[in-house]
Amino acid sequence: DPRLKAISEAIRVVPHFPKPGIMFQDITTLLLDHKAFKDTVDIFVDRYRDMGISVVAGVEARGFMFGPSIALAIGAKFVPLRKPRKLPGEVISESYVLEYGKDCLEMHVGAVQPGERALVIDDLVATGGTLSAAIRLLERAGAHVVECACVVGLREVKGQHELNGKPLYILVEPR
Ligand code: 5GP
Repeated sequence: DPRLKAISEAIRVVPHFPKPGIMFQDITTLLLDHKAFKDTVDIFVDRYRDMGISVVAGVEARGFMFGPSIALAIGAKFVPLRKPRKLPGEVISESYVLEYGKDCLEMHVGAVQPGERALVIDDLVATGGTLSAAIRLLERAGAHVVECACVVGLREVKGQHELNGKPLYILVEPR
């Protein structure tokens, strides 16, 4: 797809953020580039429009920057998966292991109905731990996770077991 090169080039790499040695993939510069941003959303929309998806679940915070646009375009609802103590209603939680320590994602009870077909979206997949927690949340609610989608990811993480066997769709590799 000829659009992918420009999408990749619109992502800024910030060395040593948030700590020494990390090459941070900054997607905020992609959001500044109208064509690259629109192409990104369009590629996902074209892929998911006819898959019977009724839920797009976005991972806080950068999954919120792509998920709602995709949801509106494919006729699905958007469900935010949030960090602890952000959602006001009753929630279910799933914790996951980070490089240093643990974190947790929460989803509102009742946001997703059993049998719904869901897409999980985030900006970037590294170990897959975050997406894995997202999948567990949706499955606990009885949803079927059709696929996880990220703008950036290592090719190696495709189909790895931490993603609970769910397909992973990635647009570009880290720069
Ligand atoms: P994982 O759980 O797959 O190891 O890490 C993915 C999560 O960390 C995603 O929610 C993603 O937003 C965040 N993340 C880790 N590294 C980066 C990075 O270099 N750039 C961006 N934008 N997000 C990152």
